[in-house]
Amino acid sequence: MPAQSIDGILLSQKLRGEIAARASVLTAKGKQPGLAVILVGEDPASQVYVRNKVKACGDVGFHSVLEKYEADLTEAALLARIDALNADPAIHGILVQMPLPKHINPHKVIEAISTAKDVDGYSVLSAGELLTGLPGFRPCTPYGCMKLIESTGTDLRGKHAVVIGRSNTVGKPMALLLLQANATVTICHSATPDLAQHTRGADVVVAAVGRRNTLTADMVKPGAIVIDVGMNRDDNGKLCGDVDFNGVREVASHITPVPGGVGPMTITMLLMNTVEAAERE
Ligand code: NAP
Repeated sequence: MPAQSIDGILLSQKLRGEIAARASVLTAKGKQPGLAVILVGEDPASQVYVRNKVKACGDVGFHSVLEKYEADLTEAALLARIDALNADPAIHGILVQMPLPKHINPHKVIEAISTAKDVDGYSVLSAGELLTGLPGFRPCTPYGCMKLIESTGTDLRGKHAVVIGRSNTVGKPMALLLLQANATVTICHSATPDLAQHTRGADVVVAAVGRRNTLTADMVKPGAIVIDVGMNRDDNGKLCGDVDFNGVREVASHITPVPGGVGPMTITMLLMNTVEAAERE
């Protein structure tokens, strides 16, 4: 029997309904959740991403501010804007869209965001909170992957999870979240000699590589849950993930499609972190 497709659009709608309800409680108390999105430069993909984030804020009843700057904005000017937003009581979350122009140090910018407003969860302190199991903001994409796995009703305790990819924004936090849920976790990367040897024993595989067909049916244990974070283009220019969806769905028990799996969850978890930031304040 083919795997059940995990519908990230449907789950997002459900979670966004819950977020909107939480936002309206806060708004009634005079504390409408607010997100500031900063874009520097003209990167076309980034323009789409920030537009989608601001629209999503409106849909759940958040206040949002989109600040767009020319590519020649100085680092000092950007840091001064972040300082002002850190002090702005109407703003509970600050997101600086990456990538930034080369003359701006992204680490300096991320670290300038107050931890209480770091809804992307990218700062060193937020990463440390995740590592040590303290409450804090979890990076949105892996956080969304956890919700997708949760939606299958699977208890991760004692399961073997394999994460392919070790980036600071996806692979590493993903592995830590799985570990926190009591899975036994293996992290694979470009220097892993025999990827299939690891994935074949996994109850859960999360692919976050950025390369088509990284995970094929022969690499998957029957009944495994497969989460596909990758965003690539196939030969016809169509969006596809890292997983050979048609092959793997014949082996796995659950699988996320691309598009319509992890993608919609990333913005949803940004909204979740922002409403939580407003509630915590
Ligand atoms: P990244 O920073 O480029 O990291 C890719 C990781 O894959 C690296 O750790 C790399 O290993 C590993 N890798 C490369 N080739 C490999 C191979 N042949 N076998 C095993 N591992 C290999 O990318 P990222 O930011 O984590 O993103 C990964 C993918 O997810 C991209 O397609 C990105 O577009 C997508 N993404 C989607 C969303 C979403 O919302 N849907 C959000 C974020 C990212 P090394 O560390 O050894 O180089």
